[in-house]
Amino acid sequence: MNYALVTGGSRGIGRAVSVRLAELGYYILVNYHSNKEEAENTLKLIREKGSDGEIIQFDVSNQTDIERELGRWQLAHEGQYIKVLVNNAGIRRDALLMWMKNEEWHEVMNTNLNSFLYVTRFLIKEMLIKKMGRIINVVSLSGLKGLPGQANYSAAKAGVIGATKALAQEVAKKNVTVNAVAPGFIQTDMTKDLDESQLKIMIPMGRFGKPEEVAEAVAFLASEKASYVTGTVINVNGGLYT
Ligand code: NAP
Repeated sequence: MNYALVTGGSRGIGRAVSVRLAELGYYILVNYHSNKEEAENTLKLIREKGSDGEIIQFDVSNQTDIERELGRWQLAHEGQYIKVLVNNAGIRRDALLMWMKNEEWHEVMNTNLNSFLYVTRFLIKEMLIKKMGRIINVVSLSGLKGLPGQANYSAAKAGVIGATKALAQEVAKKNVTVNAVAPGFIQTDMTKDLDESQLKIMIPMGRFGKPEEVAEAVAFLASEKASYVTGTVINVNGGLYT
């Protein structure tokens, strides 16, 4: 059995990634934070694709939670390991830096950047032992371009991009690849407060993207076909570059 963990698999991009990887035959561990009902809906969609999975609840910003839940999973699955890790869970807490509260900065850092360390460090050991693994980090146009009102979010995503490139070089010899996907504006709950009719004017394709369009890039990076691709960032942004 090939196992894939998708953090934040309950909604949006994480759900689309879970469904796409299920289509490719992966057994999916659907992580969520607080929205169990939506995680169950993702699991239903996975089963509709003829694959299977399970729900695994933890807060990606909480190292103790992560190690307890993933440790429990490992104990119950001796000899098996999670081959594909998609670090997708993320939040926005936008504010102009001048007005930004410490907690808005730290919450975004903890959930979008520190989570990368906690989850990846825990799972990478088995990937290295088995000499096969795929780590895909969902970053953002904001981490490449910098977006006003998102100093916290841009910094966290830029941090993950740097870590992606560094880790890729550390583990390349063991056949473990580490890459990132940088979406532009995608229609999910995260962007539902934004005015698409205004923002789409600056997007060359003239529209927001769909979660499934991001999932396709993640699926490529997770596949055997991406065996010589590591340390890179694939943009999925409708032509909206820096
Ligand atoms: P979304 O619709 O708001 O979904 C966020 C997902 O992350 C949910 O499954 C949520 O779980 C989970 N999550 C949030 N905090 C968590 C935590 N502390 N622990 C575990 N899970 C947590 O967001 P999205 O648009 O799909 O975004 C997914 C990723 O893409 C994020 O990293 C985001 O930064 C990135 N991204 C999005 C866009 C965009 O335009 N949408 C653009 C660039 C990058 P619950 O359901 O339990 O709350």
